[in-house]
Amino acid sequence: LDADNRAAGKNGVNAYLHLNAEEALAVAKSVDEDRAAGKELPALAGVPIAVKDLIVTKGQPTTAASRMLEGWMSPYDGTVTQKVREARMPILGKTNLDEFAMGSTTEHSAFGVTRNPWSLDRTPGGSSGGTLAALAAFQAPLALGTDTGGSVRQPAAFTGTVGMKPTYGSISRYGVIAMASSLDQVGPCARTVLDTALLHEVIAGHDPKDSTSLQTPVGSFADAARAGAAEGGLQGLRVGVIKELSGEGFQPGVLARFNESLELLKSAGAEIVEVSLPSVKEAIGAYYLIMSSEVSSNLAKYDGVRFGLRKLPEEGNVTIERVMGASRAAGFGAEAKRRIILGTYALSAGYYDAYYGSAQKVRTLIQRDYAKAFEVADVLVSPTAPTTAYKLGEKTKGDPMAMYMGDIATVPTNLAGVPSISLPGGLADEDGLPVGIQFTAPAHEDERLYRAGAGLE
Ligand code: GLN
Repeated sequence: LDADNRAAGKNGVNAYLHLNAEEALAVAKSVDEDRAAGKELPALAGVPIAVKDLIVTKGQPTTAASRMLEGWMSPYDGTVTQKVREARMPILGKTNLDEFAMGSTTEHSAFGVTRNPWSLDRTPGGSSGGTLAALAAFQAPLALGTDTGGSVRQPAAFTGTVGMKPTYGSISRYGVIAMASSLDQVGPCARTVLDTALLHEVIAGHDPKDSTSLQTPVGSFADAARAGAAEGGLQGLRVGVIKELSGEGFQPGVLARFNESLELLKSAGAEIVEVSLPSVKEAIGAYYLIMSSEVSSNLAKYDGVRFGLRKLPEEGNVTIERVMGASRAAGFGAEAKRRIILGTYALSAGYYDAYYGSAQKVRTLIQRDYAKAFEVADVLVSPTAPTTAYKLGEKTKGDPMAMYMGDIATVPTNLAGVPSISLPGGLADEDGLPVGIQFTAPAHEDERLYRAGAGLE
C-alpha cells in the first residue's frame, strides 16, 4: 500500500480527498494474521476499498467535496461503511466528487478537479468521478459511489470501469449524505462485473435505520455473473434495445461500439428486440426539477447554525438570518446554489403544481413505459452516455444545460427506481476513449444485470 505515491494525486488524477493509509494497513495486517492462524474470514477480507466522500466514515473526514463540511468528522459510520468494516475490507480513503454529488464532471468539487486516467485533459465524469477514476488508475480494486441520476454509471462509462445502481431501497442510505432522497442509491463499483457483484453482496440488505429500505432478501449476484459468463450464458435472454436512446444525438464511435455489443449479445444466445420509452424525452426536465426540489430541502440544514460552516456577516448586525446568509454564501459553490434556488422556486406556493406536480406526473409515465417494455424484454440496453468523456471545462463553462443533457440515458432509471449497470464496451474510434454499455432490469431483478453484464463482458 504505497499510498503516498500511488494516490493523493501524485500521478495527476487526484482521485482521493483523504487517505486512510495507516488504518487500512492495520486492517490488512490483522486479516493476514487471522488467515495465517487458520481463522475463518469473510469472502472479501483484506481486499481494499475506496469510498466516495459522501458516505460517512467514523474517524476520517467526510466533506461531500464542500467547504460547508470541510474539517467535519462523522461521529458514526454509515450502514454500508459498517458492512465493509465487518467484511474486514481496509478502507483506503475518501474519493472526490462534485459538491454534494451535484454534477457530471467532478469539476464542481470545492477541493480541485479529478482527471480521467485515460487522458488527463478529460474529466472522469461525475459525480462519483474520484471513485471510478481510482479504479481506472488501479488505485483501488473496489469502490463505493452513489447514484442519483447516473453518478456511478456515467463515470464508469467514461473511465472503462463498472458501476452499478441497484434497485431503489435495496441498499441502506443511512449515513449517506442526502442529495435527492427519492432517487439516491449507493452503487458498488469495480473493474469487472463479477467483482462488482461480490461487493454488492457485502453492502446490500434490509436496514431498520433507513425508512425506505426494502425487506427483500439479498440476491445471488456473483452466481448470476458466473452463470452469464458461462458458455451460452445468455441463452433465451430477451434484450430490449431502447429506440430513443440508441440513435440520434449519440456520438458515432459510441454507437459503433454499442451495435457491436448487440452482435456479441446475440452470439452469446440473447434475443434482441426493440422497445420504446416515449416519455424519456421528458426525463431530463422531470429529473432536474424533482432532484433540485429535494436538494433544496435536504441542504436547508447546512445553515451555519444547525450544521456546517459558520460565517459571520462582514458588516452590520449579527442576526441569525444574516449568519445563515453569510454561511451559505461562503459554504456552497455555484452549482449547489443554482440547484437550491431552482428547487426552492419549484416548491414555492403557487408554482408547486406547475413544476413539481407536473414533473411527478412525468415520473409516473416513465415508470409505465418501463413496465411496458419489460413485458417483451428481460433487460433493456443502451449506451450509458451519448458521448465519451468530456474535456475539462467543456461542459462547465457557460450554459449548465449542456452538462445536464448528457444525463439523458441515466436519469430515467432513477426516476423509475429500477436497477441499472454500466460496463465497458470498448473504445471509440474517433478519440480512443472508453464507451459504456448500460443494462436496465425491473425492480428487484438486479441479478439479471449481472448475468447480462458478465455475458457481454
Ligand atoms: N449528473 C447528475 C446530476 O448532476 C447525476 C448526479 C448524481 O447521480 N449524483 O444531477
